[in-house]
Order: sequence, then C-alpha cells, then structure tokens
Amino acid sequence: MAKNNLSMTERYRVQPGAKVHLRDVDPDDTGPYRQKDDAKADLERDRDRLFDLQEILYAQAQHSLLIVLQAMDTGGKDGTISHVMGGVNPQGCQVASFKQPTPEELSHDFLWRIHKHTPARGQITIFNRSHYEDVLVVRVHNLVPEPVWRQRYNQINEFEELLADQGGTTILKFFLHISRAEQKERLQARLDDPTKQWKFSTGDLKERAYWDDYTAAYEDALTRCSTKVAPWFVVPADRKWYRNVVVARIIVEALEGLGLRYPEPEPGLDQVVIED
Ligand code: AMP
Ligand code: MG
Repeated sequence: MAKNNLSMTERYRVQPGAKVHLRDVDPDDTGPYRQKDDAKADLERDRDRLFDLQEILYAQAQHSLLIVLQAMDTGGKDGTISHVMGGVNPQGCQVASFKQPTPEELSHDFLWRIHKHTPARGQITIFNRSHYEDVLVVRVHNLVPEPVWRQRYNQINEFEELLADQGGTTILKFFLHISRAEQKERLQARLDDPTKQWKFSTGDLKERAYWDDYTAAYEDALTRCSTKVAPWFVVPADRKWYRNVVVARIIVEALEGLGLRYPEPEPGLDQVVIED
C-alpha cells in the first residue's frame, strides 16, 4: 500500500481485530521526513494548533481527551509529554503517572485507581503508564493468576467504552515503539550523563531481560484492546523527533474531528454597555 498517502492516524492505528506483530513495525521509521529539520515546521504548526484546540475544548466543556502512553523503559513517555504537550495551558491539562500500586490500591479492583484520574469534560489527561500495566508487568511477572489477568482485556475494553459513551471522552493510546538496541543506548546514556543518572534504575536492567515477554504481552494488549472508541497507535520511537511529530499530529487530527466550537454567548451581549 502507498503508505505516504495515509494520514498519520491511519498509518499507525491498529485496526480493531488485527493481529499485531511488532517485528513488522520499524522503530526507526521516519515516514515522509528524511531528517529532523524537515519535520520542524510541521511539529511547530501542530503544537500551535494543539494550543488553540485545547482552549476551545476547555471553553466548550463538552468533550474530554484521554491520552495513554505506554512503552518499554526509556521508550520516551516523559519526553513525549514535555515536547508535545509542553505548550498547552496547564489549567486544562493533567498528567497522571501510575507506579507500583500501593496496598490501598491493591485492595480494590485494578481500575479503581485509574478511574479517579480520567478527564472531566473540557480537560485533557495524559496517563504516563496506565491500566495496561495490569496486563503487562503483572502478566510478565505473574503478579496475579493467569485467569485474572486474562479477563482484564475485556474489562479494559468495557471500561474504555464507558468513558467514551458516558464521559464524552476521546481516547488515544500510544505505544512508543523502540528497538532493543535503542534501549541499550538510552540506558547507557543514563549511566554516563550526570544529568540523566537520576533516571537510571537497576530495575530497568532486570526488566530488559524480559524483553521478549514484554513484547508478547504488548502484542496481545495492542491486538485485543484496539477498538473503534479507543484505538492503539504503534509509534516508531527510535527517533525522538519523529515520535513527537507523529503523536502531535494524531492528537490534532482527533481534536479536529470533534468539530469543537466555542459555546454560544449569553443572549443579548451586543446590548451590554459597560458603565464608566
Ligand atoms: P517509572 O514509570 O519508571 O517511575 O516506574 C514505575 C514502575 O511501576 C514500573 O516499573 C511499572 O512497571 C510499575 N507499575 C506500574 N503499574 C503497575 C502495576 N499495576 N502493577 C505492578 N507494577 C506497576
Ligand atoms: Mg523508569
């Protein structure tokens, strides 16, 4: 297929029902661009557009946007948040980061801690990790019995459908796809660069040993949970600049598709006279 004619949304969206094989997606892909400078103007334009669209989303307060970011360690979730969303008005945008569950969180169902952070109408929320950890790390390390995590794919689909139907929420889920070689470089950079050492965790090396298990778990999650109302996107992420361009473009395309409008003003505003 002539992929260059597709929008970024079509190009990287996982079709509902399609089986995902991550080895078929090149993490080093740069789409229509040869190098970073070629993409600069497009990223700038989309960041500006995102700023404007977010303001209307906020003013209209009908729709909300949930962005889910998942990746292998060093995949670029933090960088995506700062580069793509960095220009958005903080008043209408939250980031929720999901770490190892606390004892209180573990004493509830796995979606309890997630639901509290879903966006209100008018808001954008970014999940830095998400409920998908409950079919990823949890599956790879057998943190619950298999029949328990197996049920979660359906439970996740139903939960996301609820958010879309009853919460007015548009859901975009991004898997930032890096190669194993790129992860090695990024881990090495964290070791070598004093300004990045704070990000290094020996735990990441342990997880790296489970690369193939994580790949299998991701492939299942992407295959089973890419739905019409909550699609997954597999984003080539070895080049940080291209990853940012793709994520920004897909968010803008989704928001443009909502037909956002400023709300109607109070009637009679044209008659209002402001006294001296
Ligand atoms: P980081 O995002 O680097 O701060 O790391 C957060 C850690 O929390 C990662 O190792 C995740 O795998 C882990 N984590 C997140 N959610 C869960 C979960 N539901 N169960 C177990 N571990 C989790
Ligand atoms: Mg980490």
